[in-house]
Formats: sequence, C-alpha cells, structure tokens
Amino acid sequence: MRYGIFADVHSNLEALDAVIEAYKNEAIDRYLCVGDLVGYAVNPRECIKKVKALAAATVAGNHDWASVGLFSFENFNPLAKEALFWTKTRLDEEERSHLESLKLVYKNQDLTLVHGTLDNPAGFGYMSNGYIAEETFRILETNICFIGHTHCPGVFIKNPAEGIVSRQEESLDIEPGNSYIINVGSVGQPRDGDPRAAYCIYDTARKRIQIKRVDYDAQATRKKIVDLGLPEFLGDRFILGR
Ligand code: ZN
Repeated sequence: MRYGIFADVHSNLEALDAVIEAYKNEAIDRYLCVGDLVGYAVNPRECIKKVKALAAATVAGNHDWASVGLFSFENFNPLAKEALFWTKTRLDEEERSHLESLKLVYKNQDLTLVHGTLDNPAGFGYMSNGYIAEETFRILETNICFIGHTHCPGVFIKNPAEGIVSRQEESLDIEPGNSYIINVGSVGQPRDGDPRAAYCIYDTARKRIQIKRVDYDAQATRKKIVDLGLPEFLGDRFILGR
C-alpha cells in the first residue's frame, strides 16, 4: 500500500492543486488528511470539496473545528482569528456538516492519524519536543502516527534502546521494534522556512516514508488575500514559509 498523507491545507487552493498534481507521479493507493482544511487562505470551499473527494479519511484540525463552533476562537492569535471569522461566513450547510463530522483520531492496521497529540486530541497541543511525544507514544496502538499542526515536517523515533530521538529526515526507513511520530508538514502554509508545499508518502511494502516538497504560485495565493482586504501578513507568510 502506498499512502499519500498530507495536512494543513488551510484553504490554499494553489498549494493543494500542486500537491495533488505531484502525487499523480507517486502511484498512491489511498490518501489520508491530517486536518486543517480551512483557515488562513481564501478558498475553504474548494479545498473542502477536493480533499473530501480525494481522501479516504480526514481527521479534524483546530481550524476545522473552530470554524464550526466546536473549538473556541479564544485559542487563536488575532490574525488567525480574523481569517477564521471570514472562513465561517463562507461555508454552506453541507461544508459545515462535513467539518463537524471529522473525527479527532483515525486508526487502521498500518497507522494512526491525529492533528496535534494523541493524549489530548481535542486540546490540539503542539508536538514540539520529546516529552510531549512520549505521551503520544505511550498510548499509540500502531507503530506509526502521522501528525500535522506545527507546519514543520519532522520525525520522533522511539527506539527501545535509545529512547526518543527527534530528527529532520526527507526519507526514513521503518525499522522493526521502533515507533514513529511523523509530522508531515503543511500543504498550504509551511513554517519551516521553506515555502514549498509539503506532502508525505508512506510505502508499507518498502517500509519507507518520504516527505517531499513542491513549488506552487504563492504570489497568487497572497494576492487573493490582499485583494479581499484581509491582513497582509497572512499573505506574506506564504512567500516567507514562516
Ligand atoms: Zn494548521
């Protein structure tokens, strides 16, 4: 099985289209989305529709839940809040009920998906260090968990001998006995200094995980935000990758 796993689209249609196009060369059998379809950019409806058609499963992100009243706006900074207020006014009944229907955790025989952390999925905490990762490893029932939320790709590996180590890898071979938390990075608003859209491939037969990047027209995404009168910094982030 070759999984295409991606997260944090954030209404960025240009980035999503580039990733979908790039995946066409990867012989993907099943797509999975690790949350945050909406927020920040200005094509929430198109992104919900495309991901709904593409992904076999999508878990809820904090922006998904906030835009339908399931998570408090008070948890967001003023810019994110403004984008969320705007998003909320754009969704129709069907789109809202789709976001409401998203579960916090998805699990199958190969993997687990959660947007933030597994120990408190509804709290949407950031998996920012090994101590936080330990809590997820403790209750993880598969050997691999895919996450998003920080918008920075990275890997936590739990090895019975060495404990938990954190790494930045573009390609990772899965070894028996280890457990893995893979942050797949962000399609629509990367924050690791690389503005290219991030997407992940998990090949279960080769036991290999790859994080890839693809260029897209971030200037076009930025212009849409500026033209709508939304805060300019929301647009600049797409160019900066921050
Ligand atoms: Zn996000």
